[in-house]
Amino acid sequence: NAIIELKGVSKTYQIGDEGYVALKGIDLTINHNEFVAITGPSGSGKSTLMNILGCLSTPTNGEYQLNNQNVANYDEDQLAHVRNHSIGFIFQSFNLLPRQSVLQNVIHPLKYRSMSSVERKRRALSALDKVGLGDKVNSFPSQLSGGQRQRVAIARALVTEPEILLGDEPTGNLDSKTTQEIMALFDQLHEQGQTVVLVTHEQDIADHCQREVRLVDGLLASDVSKERVSWGL
Ligand code: ADP
Ligand code: ADP
Repeated sequence: NAIIELKGVSKTYQIGDEGYVALKGIDLTINHNEFVAITGPSGSGKSTLMNILGCLSTPTNGEYQLNNQNVANYDEDQLAHVRNHSIGFIFQSFNLLPRQSVLQNVIHPLKYRSMSSVERKRRALSALDKVGLGDKVNSFPSQLSGGQRQRVAIARALVTEPEILLGDEPTGNLDSKTTQEIMALFDQLHEQGQTVVLVTHEQDIADHCQREVRLVDGLLASDVSKERVSWGL
């Protein structure tokens, strides 16, 4: 039932003729439909791990099985294909295209798919419905609140029907009320079967997830599964 399986994953950055080891032999399995937070202090390797999980980079050593594909040795084209099909990215800064409508933003990841424009639009509208923005399809990002913009970004992440939703501090730019709304949306998607992995340094976000994987100095310092804290909608 594993969707992500890391075995002995290390990452070394070359700085001049020195090697800096940012991840030191990480073993980590994440199953389908888990809701996981990756936490740790600044510099502990969270971004490095998230970039490997999201196939934005590859490990220096070790294995990464994503959905039973061994992606650790994939080349750039193969990684790009896996990213576009299996991973839905959500960023702190939303990363929407300002001159395109909400609908166009959400259709974007389907541009290079062989499907009709009618089918692309149908999928985008369905993703926008899932995030509660069915009535904003013709708006532009500048006309939306921060929370609405992040909902658009989540719809864009969902439109390819990815195996994993991967968020990098997804509530980092939002106030506490909007953070609760976005976390409630992640809950809803999780209940619908989505696997969700969030990288965060905010403990209340981590407490909200089912499982917290904590990095310290490039090592897996703890891995705790727990009862979820309710946000009391
Ligand atoms: P976090 O996201 O937890 O803050 P990072 O994964 O960004 O941690 O960084 C882990 C360590 O690796 C840090 O010491 C950082 O300075 C170093 N590092 C990250 N990216 C690079 C890079 N591209 N080149 C060199 N060192 C890097
Ligand atoms: P950070 O939080 O480290 O300032 P981002 O969250 O914007 O940076 O990006 C994290 C990583 O994802 C970076 O390696 C960046 O190059 C990459 N990235 C950013 N935007 C996209 C995108 N739209 N699609 C794919 N990769 C992206």
